[in-house]
Amino acid sequence: MKLVLMDRDGVINVDRPDSVKSKEEFVLLSGVIPAIKKLNEARIPIAIITNQAVVGRGEITDQELEEIHSYMHNLLNEGGAFVDKIYACTSADPLNPRRKPNPGLLIDAFQDFKVNPDEAIFIGDALRDLEAARAINCSRILVRTGKGQKTLEEGIPETLQPILVFNTLFEAVSHILDEDLC
Ligand SMILES: [Mg+2]
Repeated sequence: MKLVLMDRDGVINVDRPDSVKSKEEFVLLSGVIPAIKKLNEARIPIAIITNQAVVGRGEITDQELEEIHSYMHNLLNEGGAFVDKIYACTSADPLNPRRKPNPGLLIDAFQDFKVNPDEAIFIGDALRDLEAARAINCSRILVRTGKGQKTLEEGIPETLQPILVFNTLFEAVSHILDEDLC
């Protein structure tokens, strides 16, 4: 296991149908700090892979997205945890190669961290997370937080299997570390 990739909204923080537009709207899910801390202690780097078309649609600026992310870093740091890097696609164009379900941001992360897709695992709550990971043959976990439960109920296409399913990020991370996956 050389890298854990994770979605942001619905995995780390409460998903909002109208997107997170300010730090006041950024609320960590329970168990996220201990989960990230566990990965930090195991010295496994963490990259967040997030679509933030809220910027591309003009609802918030790049600067405001950065403020939300520094707020997130502060919350994690206060809890003794950290993420290594955030990859955000701010485009609202579905053809943008970095916008999930396209795998561009994952490819960027693999290059930066010098790992192969089969040495990493992606944790997400939406079909497009699973699709992006599948597109480059990276293992995938669905968590039931955020859109996860609905995604499961709507059915996971056979082409995206196998996937692992956990209730929360903490349970997913515990499994990864216990099983020494990847
Ligand atoms: Mg999500």
